[in-house]
Amino acid sequence: MDTLCVDHVTKEYATHGKSLVVLRGVSLKLSDGENLAVIGPSGSGKSTLLSIIGTLERPTSGRIELAGEDPFSFDEPALADFRNRQIGFIFQDHHLLPQCTLLENVLIPTLADGRPTPEEIEWGRALIDRIGLTGRIDYRPSELSGGERQRIAIARALIRQPRLLLADEPTGNLDRKTAESVGQLLLELQNERGMMLIIVTHSQQIAGMLSRHVELDGGILR
Ligand code: ADP
Ligand code: MG
Repeated sequence: MDTLCVDHVTKEYATHGKSLVVLRGVSLKLSDGENLAVIGPSGSGKSTLLSIIGTLERPTSGRIELAGEDPFSFDEPALADFRNRQIGFIFQDHHLLPQCTLLENVLIPTLADGRPTPEEIEWGRALIDRIGLTGRIDYRPSELSGGERQRIAIARALIRQPRLLLADEPTGNLDRKTAESVGQLLLELQNERGMMLIIVTHSQQIAGMLSRHVELDGGILR
């Protein structure tokens, strides 16, 4: 059973009186437990595609279906709730809050429902343990290395136990060795949780770790 279906998605931006067609009809399917690397030149629309799959942006035409639902049929509050529960995001820049501890950063997605529950706090601690930062649960992001910050961003993406994990150039700011260990961690966690994972990456090294590869070029997938 495919749990993610992207069906003939197009995206056109109108800027400065001109139209820019970024996606010209993109289709793909992914099942629980599968992973996919999206590669392609800069400006080819990789982030745009990931934003649409992540329901952060609406397609110009076409549809997506995730976990049997068409998220774009929901009103804004229902869409935000669906996104918060089903999808975890990891970006090139970790976007951690500097004033918050590591545990608080990991728990941020739970705040959409009010205070984190005791179970969520427990799961947050377990995740920090799993990514190897147990002793530093009360540290602030500035006290970590780049690779460690990205590990915290991964734990934050997993706190709601999403069905789909989306990572946009997750190792783009890291050196080769750190990138490899962060990529490895992402794959291990994906496997353990049986999630779907899509990674946009420039790195052949990271792409090579994933089981499926597609290239976005000229607005279509090859
Ligand atoms: P990639 O991630 O592959 O580098 P992007 O998806 O970020 O590519 O961008 C693809 C193209 O769409 C670029 O030409 C970019 O300038 C344009 N673009 C992205 N977002 C917007 C936007 N909100 N408004 C107008 N143009 C945009
Ligand atoms: Mg991009």
